[in-house]
Amino acid sequence: MNHPPQPFSTEQESYLKGFFQGIAQRPVIHALATNTALDDAPPETGAESLYGTPIDELCREERIKLETNGLDVWDQMVKNGDLNQFPKDGDVFRYKFYGMFYVAPAQDSLMLRCRIPGGQLFNHQLRGLADIAEKHGNGFLDITTRANFQIREIAPASAIPTLTQLTDIGLTSKGSGADNVRNVTASPTAGFDVQEILDVMPFAREMHHRILNNRDLYGLPRKFNIAYDGGGQISACADTNDIGFYAVRVGEGHSVDPGVYFRVQLCGITGHRQFAKDCGILIRPEQHADLACAMLRTFLQHGNRTNRNRARLKYLIDDWGVERFLEETEHHLDFSLMRFPQANCEARGATLQQGHLGIHAQKHPDYSYVGVRVPVGRLSHEQLRTIANLSQHYARGEIRLTVWQNFLIPHVHKSQIAELKLALSNAGFAFEANPFAAGLVACTGNTGCKYAAANTKSHAVKLADELAKRVQLDHAINIHLTGCTHSCAQHYIGDIGMIATPCTLDGESVEGYSIAFGGGVEERQGIAIEMFKSIPFQHIPDLLEACLTTFLDHREAGETFNAFIRRHSHEALNQLFLPHASTS
Ligand code: SF4
Repeated sequence: MNHPPQPFSTEQESYLKGFFQGIAQRPVIHALATNTALDDAPPETGAESLYGTPIDELCREERIKLETNGLDVWDQMVKNGDLNQFPKDGDVFRYKFYGMFYVAPAQDSLMLRCRIPGGQLFNHQLRGLADIAEKHGNGFLDITTRANFQIREIAPASAIPTLTQLTDIGLTSKGSGADNVRNVTASPTAGFDVQEILDVMPFAREMHHRILNNRDLYGLPRKFNIAYDGGGQISACADTNDIGFYAVRVGEGHSVDPGVYFRVQLCGITGHRQFAKDCGILIRPEQHADLACAMLRTFLQHGNRTNRNRARLKYLIDDWGVERFLEETEHHLDFSLMRFPQANCEARGATLQQGHLGIHAQKHPDYSYVGVRVPVGRLSHEQLRTIANLSQHYARGEIRLTVWQNFLIPHVHKSQIAELKLALSNAGFAFEANPFAAGLVACTGNTGCKYAAANTKSHAVKLADELAKRVQLDHAINIHLTGCTHSCAQHYIGDIGMIATPCTLDGESVEGYSIAFGGGVEERQGIAIEMFKSIPFQHIPDLLEACLTTFLDHREAGETFNAFIRRHSHEALNQLFLPHASTS
C-alpha cells in the first residue's frame, strides 16, 4: 500500500526546523541516515545534503528517516505497547519498517504485513500465523498481490507480541513497508514446474536475506519490488516489478557457454502504466544478488528524495537512460555486465492463464500440485489451520501463496489426489477454475484502507458470482478491482480492470468504478484501455454481462476476450460497448 505524502503540522514544522538546524552542524549526514559504514558512503557533497539532496529540500518521509532510522523504533513500540497507544507523528512511518501499519481512519488499529519470500510456507508456520490472527488480529488473513499475508485489527499492546511470535515461527516483517524492498516474489511452482528451466526459489530466498541484513537498503528513496521467473507455466508477473529476473537458456554458437542465465527487466510499475523492459544484459545466476544490490545502491544514491511521486526507479532511468544506469551500477560491482542480445536467448515457454487452479502434473510423474481458490485472498484462522492439516496429511506440509491471491499445495502423491480433493471440498475450498472467480484480484478496499473509494473485496465477490451465473465463457477472465490510484490490485493488467471513483445515482453519492478492458502480463502483456467512467457498482454486473455477451456474439472462433479487445480499435470498441452504459 502506498501512502501519499502528508503535510506537517505547524508544531511538527517547528520541531523539525530546530532539529535540522542542529543536525546541519554534523559533518556526515548520510551516515546518520543509514548507519552504513563510511566505506559505503556516497561521495560527500556537503554536510547540508543527503545523497546530494539539500536537507531543506527533502520530502517529509526523508526527514523522518533522517531524524531516527525506522529500525530504531522498537523501544518506542515497546513503550507505546505498555500504554496501549498508537504511534504518533513520524513514528507512524517508522512502524512500517517493522511491517506495522497504523491504518486509521479506515480502522483504528494496526495491520501487520509479513515477508514470505517466494510465497513459500510450511504447516507449522501456517498454524503460527493462524494463532497470531486469532489472538492478536481480527481472526482473518489476507493473501496479497505479492504472495504475502496481512493481518488486521491489531491493538498497540499486541504489536510487540505479534512481531516476536512471527519471529518464533521463522518469519519476519522487517522492511515490508516504508522505503524498502518489498516481499521478494518467485514463480509459485518453482522447483516442481514441468516447464521451468531454473528453480528460482533459492534465489528469491537469498535475495530476501541480503535485503534483511544490509541496513542501508532500508533507506531507499521509495518502495522497490523484485521478482524471479523460472520460465515455468505459472507467471509471477515479474514484468510488473522494478527488477524482474528471468531465467533463460542460451544454446550453442554464441559468445557465452551454453546454459541457463538470467536476463534482467527493469522498471515495471503498472500503476504508472509501465511494464518492465529487458535492459540488454545477461548474467550468470549466481551473480543475481550482487547485481540487485548494486542496482539498489545506485537507486539509493541517485533516486529522487524530494518528490515521492517521482521517487521510483522508473523516474531515475527516464532521466538517465538504461545505459547510464548500467554504467553507474557497475561501479558497485567487481564484475562487468555482459551486454547480450535477447534474440540470442531461447524464447520463454508459454504461461497458463489461471493455470494454477486444480490438479497439475509436477516434474516427478508420481506427484501433482493442487491449486486452491481463495475468493479475493481472505482466509479465516480456522481455514488456515485446515490447510496446514491437509497439506501435512496429504503432502509434505508445504504451501505456496500466489500473486493471484490463491494458494497451491505441492507434492501430492497420485495415490492421495482423490482423498485430498474430497477433503478440500468438505472443508469448503474450491479448486476448479471458474472463468471469473479464479483470476479475481481485489485490494483491501474501504473496510481497511483510508484511501479506498469503494468496498473492493465485497464488490469483487458479488461481481464474480453474478457473472458466473449469467455468462457462459470457455476461457478465464482476470478481473482486478482497486480502490484508488495507488492500484495495489494492478487494475491496468486485468482483462477487466476496475478503479474506484466517486459516482452519483439518483442524486446520491454511491460507490462505483471506471472500467478498462484488455490488460495482461507476460506474453499477453498490455495495459488495459479505459472504456467506461464512473459507473455505479450496482449497474456494473448488467453492464459487464452485456459487454461479454456482445463479445461472444462478435468474436472469431475460439477468440479470447483479451484477443478480441486487442484486435479492435478503441473507436470500434466504443461503438460496440458504449451503448450498454446507457441501458445498464
Ligand atoms: Fe492500495 Fe486499495 Fe488502499 Fe488504494 S485503496 S492504497 S489501491 S489498498
